[in-house]
Amino acid sequence: MLMLDGVSLEQIVIASGNRHKYEEFKGLLAPLGIELLFGGDYEHPIEIEETGTTFVENASLKAVAWAKYSGLPAISDDSGIEVRALGWQPGIYSSRIGGEDDEACRQWLIRNMADKTDRFARYAAALVLAFPDGTVRWHTLAYCNGSVIQEKRGENGFGYDPLFIPEGYEQTFGELPASVKSRLSHRAKASEAFIAMLRGLKGAQAQNI
Ligand code: IMP
Repeated sequence: MLMLDGVSLEQIVIASGNRHKYEEFKGLLAPLGIELLFGGDYEHPIEIEETGTTFVENASLKAVAWAKYSGLPAISDDSGIEVRALGWQPGIYSSRIGGEDDEACRQWLIRNMADKTDRFARYAAALVLAFPDGTVRWHTLAYCNGSVIQEKRGENGFGYDPLFIPEGYEQTFGELPASVKSRLSHRAKASEAFIAMLRGLKGAQAQNI
């Protein structure tokens, strides 16, 4: 049985009511034989206000609340885009910087970048594992570097993807196939770090038998 600090990791709750995130994690973690439970399947899914000042703080708030509520280890992520010429804004405010929807946020970015020559930007994703006793046991912060353009290109992805060109490519995440994004993305890298941690645990425990 896969254990960390005396707690079983055979079942983990995805601390989110977003089924898309759940399916994504389920696919990534399938090879490890861990059963993932969807937060949205709980009778009273909890809503957490993101009052932290960093991605890791916000992901921790969600993971801790869900772990306490479910009585199981919980993982949560928090992500956004950071633009160097804008002092790394919008960061944790990525989903609401320009208003209610994605289009308003993209327009905010286009307006604010109109006179900027430094186009560097990076997507960031924090991933946090919390335990039912309310403690954070592991976290990571991963990036996907790139640049932003002034006119939207492509329909794939979501959020800032039509404006974001990942490093080493000429097309935006809006234009590139999902298979490319799922290899390069900030969330993919954060998940890889989580899997590497679990594989390390598995390896260490196998040696102790
Ligand atoms: P959350 O992690 O679901 O709270 O996402 C925060 C916000 O960051 C999203 O609403 C998007 O605006 C932005 N964002 C995070 N990841 C991506 C991505 O992969 N593509 C485009 N936008 C993203």
